Amino acid sequence: MALPIPLFGAGRVSPSADQVIPERSGTAFRMAAGDRLVVIDPRGEQVADLLAFNADDLDEVISSGRTLDYAETIYLTTGHILYSNRSRPMLDIVEDSVGRHDFLLTPCSVDTFHHFYPTLTPHRGCFGNLAAALEPYGIAPDRIPTAFNCFMNVPVDGQTGKLRVLPPVSKAGDHIAFVAKMDLVVGLTACSAPDSNGGTFKPIHYRVETHA
Ligand SMILES: [Zn+2]
Repeated sequence: MALPIPLFGAGRVSPSADQVIPERSGTAFRMAAGDRLVVIDPRGEQVADLLAFNADDLDEVISSGRTLDYAETIYLTTGHILYSNRSRPMLDIVEDSVGRHDFLLTPCSVDTFHHFYPTLTPHRGCFGNLAAALEPYGIAPDRIPTAFNCFMNVPVDGQTGKLRVLPPVSKAGDHIAFVAKMDLVVGLTACSAPDSNGGTFKPIHYRVETHA
């Protein structure tokens, strides 16, 4: 299936096929400092939860609180930096064809299903998928923080603070790209929660581009 995926830095990027994260699943992989991660929503309206840990010291992890504090906004896009709990840059957002992502809410989990979807069969969700994918890297479930939720659409009422979870505004082929600022272990999902994904579950595509 041909996808409208843009090319980056022609001539400098090592060829790598897009990887597929099937619906309602997750994966983990390493990135070296300087590598670029492209996360693609191939069909539109699909969220991907992203985690990052320092590959050399797993106590250093992506931090929503640090990042939102320094960005002075809850809506992050091209030019923003995702910081660690030690206030060091972990990932730079270098491209974003969507402009709406979430960094407030934790990965969906079996408890999320009990809370919001009591009539549905519970699913282990992004949390369970991330825990399983990160276990081989020595990362225990209790170390999973708030994820950067690519394409998740969480508008906030500026007066009341009321949150809503609406369908993503991403269209088929939209993407967000990051550059790693340190060696990382990354977790990435195709989200499992109905409301976050417009009521249907789709795959997520991604690739890691290593620059010479
Ligand atoms: Zn999820």
